[in-house]
Amino acid sequence: MSRYWSAVVHQLKPYVPGEQPKLANLIKLNTNENPYPPSPQVLAAIQAELGDDASRLRLYPDPGATGLRATLARQHGLQPAQVFVGNGSDEVLAHIFLALLKHEDAAGQPRPLLFPDVTYSFYPTYCLLYGVTARTLALDEQLGLHLDDYIAQADAGAVIFPNPNAPTGRGVPLADVERLLLARPDMVVVVDEAYVDFGAESAATLVDRFPNLVVVHTFSKSRSLAGMRVGYALAQVPLIEALERVKDSFNSYPLDRLALAAAQAAVEDEAYFEQTRQAVMRSRDWLGTELTKLGFEVLPSQANFVFARHPQHSGAALQQVLREHAIIVRHFRQPERIAPYLRITIGTDAECQALVQALVAALKGSL
Ligand SMILES: *Cc1c(COP(=O)(O)O)cnc(C)c1O
Repeated sequence: MSRYWSAVVHQLKPYVPGEQPKLANLIKLNTNENPYPPSPQVLAAIQAELGDDASRLRLYPDPGATGLRATLARQHGLQPAQVFVGNGSDEVLAHIFLALLKHEDAAGQPRPLLFPDVTYSFYPTYCLLYGVTARTLALDEQLGLHLDDYIAQADAGAVIFPNPNAPTGRGVPLADVERLLLARPDMVVVVDEAYVDFGAESAATLVDRFPNLVVVHTFSKSRSLAGMRVGYALAQVPLIEALERVKDSFNSYPLDRLALAAAQAAVEDEAYFEQTRQAVMRSRDWLGTELTKLGFEVLPSQANFVFARHPQHSGAALQQVLREHAIIVRHFRQPERIAPYLRITIGTDAECQALVQALVAALKGSL
């Protein structure tokens, strides 16, 4: 604390990302990165952008990200003007909160933003940063999300949820998203599809039909580029214009030259994308089966992680014993209803096997 702080800073509750340990030889299954390297085309594109002497780095990148937006538009069957790119989808989400999620009724009362009680913990952080009024709705006993609950909140102005949800891994069907959009044309609906490539249905196909829909994607998970920081939003042109206005009031060049080149090459290598995402999904299904054999309850996952608990052992104790085996997984103490669970990122086959072996040993010795 300092008397030099602006008032807003006192209210902030910053997001706490999963640990990025400095130790080598750890098996890192805690932040949902892809276990496979990016496409070899990504390395080639970065090298081409650097050239022999990196002299292009003297020059600012394209502030409109023209090439990348055209490539993404083609991939999704949309127009480049329906695509907004940012420095990771976290930045894209931040601009969405400021530009599209803060609404009032005619009497000046806030129309709250709805999101699940168990979800991506950056949402409440952005609410405090931008003064957006939030209302959380409880997931069901199996941590399932029911969009009918959201339709029923007559005074709400907007809704955001990940599909599949984080950290549960459970998805909602596209038909439910469509029902929400049809029932509530007065609300902005943001679908955060960070994990959609691992088996859920994307709402990107609905963008042309619904003027209130925003779909957010990231290169950090299915494209193996968390270190490059690239994310994007798909929506109709007036919503994208709002995001551009915020971006150009904040940072004209959120994506650097290497990130633009890398992201474009990653999208263009469809075969590699297909191969790696299938490998992750196969490992997820194998890991789910093995954990179930060990007595874990594993939620059905459509993401690159599983959310699991053991009836005899606390989440904290399991996390600790895995750490002693040099395996890092994510455990959330809050909210309390998810404290029994571990969120385990899908690693390579060898990493998944090492995890299972460590758990077998730990459960045999009863931790
Ligand atoms: C990982 C994640 C993001 C952020 O991704 P970046 O593009 O790396 O900023 C956004 N939403 C959810 C639900 C995520 O899990």
